[in-house]
Amino acid sequence: SRIKSSLTFGFMLVQPLFDEVSAELPQPSTSPPASTVPVATDYPGAHAFTLRFQQSGTAKSVTCTFSPELNKLFCQLAKTCPVQMEVSSPPPPGAVLRATAVYKKAEHVAEVVRRCPHHERTPENNDGLTPPAHLLRVEGNPRAQYHEDDNTLRHSVLVPYEAPQVGSEYTTVLYNYMCNSSCMGGMNRRPILTIITLETQDGQLLGRRSFEVRVCACPGRDRKTEESSFRKQQEAKNTNKTPATNKRSLKEPTSRPEASKKAKTSGSSDEEIYTLQVRGRERYEFLKKINDGLELSDVVPPADAEKYRQKLHSKSSRKERDGAPEPKRGKKLLVKEEKSDSD
Ligand SMILES: [Zn+2]
Repeated sequence: SRIKSSLTFGFMLVQPLFDEVSAELPQPSTSPPASTVPVATDYPGAHAFTLRFQQSGTAKSVTCTFSPELNKLFCQLAKTCPVQMEVSSPPPPGAVLRATAVYKKAEHVAEVVRRCPHHERTPENNDGLTPPAHLLRVEGNPRAQYHEDDNTLRHSVLVPYEAPQVGSEYTTVLYNYMCNSSCMGGMNRRPILTIITLETQDGQLLGRRSFEVRVCACPGRDRKTEESSFRKQQEAKNTNKTPATNKRSLKEPTSRPEASKKAKTSGSSDEEIYTLQVRGRERYEFLKKINDGLELSDVVPPADAEKYRQKLHSKSSRKERDGAPEPKRGKKLLVKEEKSDSD
């Protein structure tokens, strides 16, 4: 008999942690201490604070592009990301704009977003004026101030609020992201949000906006991929509600494998879900084990993973000394397991 089982690869797009951290903290009357878990919900406030982004499209050459659909900025490392700030009425004199990066998923949000050890230490992109551990920088503004909170140790960068130039409705701040989202020992493929707050001189919140950020080699391509998989998800949600007979008319069965193959080779969307049809229980269990391992490695903190690795290493080197032949590579190991003739 043949059992067809479904195996789900990839990871669910965990809804923004908005639900978990949306509770508005009471605002004390003087300089409030930064909350340990930053709030990311939009709060336009009395000045109707909003952000706008240039429309840059998804061309291959684009270095920074914003997806309104995903509320997500895609950009290259150290490239200029203009963010347009708009208010309906001028904030009090001395107001500032603060940008902070936080991890999007609830399981990572407590950790401070900082650059990876490699980028922090290399001379390239470290001019000595900006703290090398800060992921977020402001470009072309000598009044930018880099801040590390005494309690939370979170990094932020502040610029004084400037009224728009005559004839313009917004002021533009140029941001740079100084690591890739994939940087090992840094963001490590964990999605981040940028929170921008408009504050009074003494730190009172006037308005807040946030957006997701992915720093990658091909912002245009990744935006396209993620938008199309987002649309597919929405489409799937809608088709699930309609009777099964309608499903075929939506050309899904034919377009699916091709589309997911494309997305896979482009290697960009970590959050897209792929379904693999597997023939035979044994093979399914085998592939499931691999997938479980990958999922696990995504949630185990790097430090813990290293500990396990060392444990395993000390075990295997003991074995070597006891005379067991060293398996050369994955392929050999598989053959061995299947035939189990080496013992
Ligand atoms: Zn890095």
